Amino acid sequence: MGEFDLIERFFTRPARRAAVGVGDDCAVFEVGAGMQLATSTDMLVEGRHFLSTVLPERLGHKALAVNLSDLAACGAAPLAFTLALALPRADAAFLEGFSRGLLALADAHGCELIGGDTTQGPLNICITVFGEVPRGQALLRRGARAGDDIYVSGTVGDARLALEVFRATHALDGAGFEQVRRAMELPQPRVALGQALRGIATSAIDVSDGLLGDLSHILRRSDVGAVIEADLLPRSDVMKAQPLPLQRLCTLAGGDDYELVFTAPADRAAAVLDAAKTAKVAVTRIGRARSKTGLELIDLQGRTLENSFGSFDHFRS
Ligand code: ADP
Ligand code: MG
Repeated sequence: MGEFDLIERFFTRPARRAAVGVGDDCAVFEVGAGMQLATSTDMLVEGRHFLSTVLPERLGHKALAVNLSDLAACGAAPLAFTLALALPRADAAFLEGFSRGLLALADAHGCELIGGDTTQGPLNICITVFGEVPRGQALLRRGARAGDDIYVSGTVGDARLALEVFRATHALDGAGFEQVRRAMELPQPRVALGQALRGIATSAIDVSDGLLGDLSHILRRSDVGAVIEADLLPRSDVMKAQPLPLQRLCTLAGGDDYELVFTAPADRAAAVLDAAKTAKVAVTRIGRARSKTGLELIDLQGRTLENSFGSFDHFRS
C-alpha cells in the first residue's frame, strides 16, 4: 500500500461542510458570519504521550480528543481538522482501528477531516483543529477576577491512577483498572460545556498537565491568586477507594484529564449549573479566586496543605 492508497483508503471521505476537503493542495471551508476562527495543534508521540500497547482505535480517539478539548476550553464549536501522520510502515490493521476511532469521534462532534500529511517515520500524530466562536466571545485564560468561584467538570485523576498502575507503582483490581484505563485512553472532550459557558465563565482552560498546574496558568494570566479545597476535587469511586495521599497526587497534579477548569462570578452560580445541565456534565466548585497571588491549598477543616504538586513539563520531568 503506497502513500496515496493509504490516504484514499483510510482518510478520504466525501467532503461535507468543507467546500474542498482531502485531495487538493489546500482545503477550503466557510466560517459563519460574525464568527472568529479558533485553532489549536497537539502532537502525540509514542512513548511520550501514549504507550505502544494502546489499541489503535483508542489512539485515534485520543489524538482528536485532546485537540477538541482545546476548542472546548475556548468555547468554540468544532468545524474541521487536519492530520499529520508519521508511520513506521503502512500497517492496514493499525490504520483501520486508528481511523475508526478517530473518525467516530470526529463524526460525534461534526468535525470534518479536511487534509493532512503522511510520511514514513517513528509513530507520531499531529492534529490541528479549527473551530468557530462568536466574535469576542472566546473563553480565555486571562479573564478571572478576585472573588470568582473556581470549578472543574467531571472527575479528575483517573488517567494518572492508570499511569501509576502501568508504571507498577500501584495495583488495582481488574475492573478498577479497566475503568481508569478508559479515562486515560478515551477522554471525552467537554465541547458542549465549553460552548454553554460562553458569556458565563470569565476564564477557562482544559486540564492536560495537571489541575493545579493548568489552573496556575489562569491565575498568572489573570493576575489573581486562589484558594483550592483539595478534598473537594471530584473523583470516581475507584479513586475514592485509594489512599488519601495518592488521591491528592492524582487529582491535583495528575494530568491527561481533559476536563475543564473555569472561573465564574459567584452570582452566576445558577447559570453555571444550567450550563452543566445543558451539556450533561457534572461541574464541582473547588475554590475561589482572590487578589492575593499564589495558590493556597486547604483541607476540609480549612488547614493549609503543603503544595508540592508540580505540573507536568516535557523538559523537566
Ligand atoms: P501536497 O504534497 O500537495 O502537500 P500531499 O501529497 O501531501 O499533498 O497530500 C495529498 C492530499 O492528501 C492533500 O489534500 C492532503 O491534505 C491529504 N492528506 C495527506 N495526508 C493525509 C492524512 N493523513 N489525512 C488526511 N488527509 C491527508
Ligand atoms: Mg503534503
